[in-house]
Amino acid sequence: MLSWQQAEGRRHAYDGVFSLRPGESFVALCGAEVTVARSDVLELGGHWLDATCWACDAVWRDRERIPCFTGGVP
Ligand SMILES: [Zn+2]
Repeated sequence: MLSWQQAEGRRHAYDGVFSLRPGESFVALCGAEVTVARSDVLELGGHWLDATCWACDAVWRDRERIPCFTGGVP
């Protein structure tokens, strides 16, 4: 089971359903180790305004067998 978490300016994905708290680090699917800030946690009033990490998105799609986004071209 995979989850998304915003951290260090990108929305990364990670393997797990546990929730991350401010100050905690995790290794994202893209291989980056990032630390969660208070403003990255929705339950603490944060907003997910950062861009998706496309490297994480690609790994997620590969694991879940979701086709890559093709921009409407089949
Ligand atoms: Zn990532």
